[in-house]
Amino acid sequence: RALVQPDAEGDERAFEAALRPKTLDELVGQDRVREQLTLVLHAARRRERTPDHVLLSGPPGLGKTTLAMIISGEMSAPLRVTSGPAIQHAGDLAAILSGINEGDVLFVDEIHRMSRPAEELLYMAMEDFRVDVVIGKGPGATAIPLEIPQFTLVGATTRAGLLPGPLRDRFGFTAQLEYYEAAELHRIVRRSARLLEVDVTEDGGLEIASRSRGTPRIANRLLRRVRDYAEVRADGTVDEDIAHRALDLFEVDRLGLDRLDRAVLHALCRSFGGGPVGVSTLAVAVAEERETVEELAEPFLVRMGFLARTPRGRVATPAAWSHLGLAAPAPGAP
Ligand code: ADP
Repeated sequence: RALVQPDAEGDERAFEAALRPKTLDELVGQDRVREQLTLVLHAARRRERTPDHVLLSGPPGLGKTTLAMIISGEMSAPLRVTSGPAIQHAGDLAAILSGINEGDVLFVDEIHRMSRPAEELLYMAMEDFRVDVVIGKGPGATAIPLEIPQFTLVGATTRAGLLPGPLRDRFGFTAQLEYYEAAELHRIVRRSARLLEVDVTEDGGLEIASRSRGTPRIANRLLRRVRDYAEVRADGTVDEDIAHRALDLFEVDRLGLDRLDRAVLHALCRSFGGGPVGVSTLAVAVAEERETVEELAEPFLVRMGFLARTPRGRVATPAAWSHLGLAAPAPGAP
């Protein structure tokens, strides 16, 4: 679990920060997004304007925060960071906006989790660089217009579809981040190994890349665990055998499924006969938050062809049964 979900220790953050690419050139993969964004930022610099608002969507760990930091770096503009769950009242957002300076980049992670009233305030700020701050309550309430300097909003969300249309429409540039190919993850592992001064062989790097489920964050996390193993149980060099043994120890299987993924598949097949079953029920069965199952385990299981989302609920595919070494029920059986 700890391999897919951030561990509570703060050093995970420091570790991620150390490995974050700082410029568009350093970014690995996402070629189209990188090229488009290069253009958008270049054009804005030429016109001496703040770039359009940017919406980044995609599963966790694919580089949304990294891109927000890169945008701020490339524009030499200060970055302000907040998140949807931290903005529960329109007033929370008004307070943030009133502290903004000309040209700032405001990064709102999990922007789909902002409250409705805050969202409405944000539309106005994005479009007109102005908000109405309501002071007081009831008949005595008055709206005071507040001018906001031009800024660039960078919103991140796991799925663009979670955002209401009017909010989505106010982003001038939208990028959908895709899962990474094994070759790209291999490049990321090599880059991280260099920064961490870990000796990783070609095969060792590939082994880590191929179990990283298309996600740079996971690739880096696995590298860290494998490095620990290599240092304690061997001479520090990460070769294929060491990577293999370390990842087995940490319960990341050959296809990159970890304990949570397998728990979800087990529950689906064993407890619910392969489904259909609702995602909330599945989450309870594996003692996890619904969001964790929905955002971390499911997209990967769907991508691997192990799980299908149907209108009646989640269903295990024949591949899921066989991956678990179980016999799938005969078609048409109750
Ligand atoms: P998100 O905000 O989408 O959850 P992050 O931007 O925090 O993801 O990225 C997670 C980690 O993965 C960071 O440590 C970063 O170094 C690494 N990473 C993400 N995308 C890339 C990339 N394209 N190239 C190299 N490293 C990356």
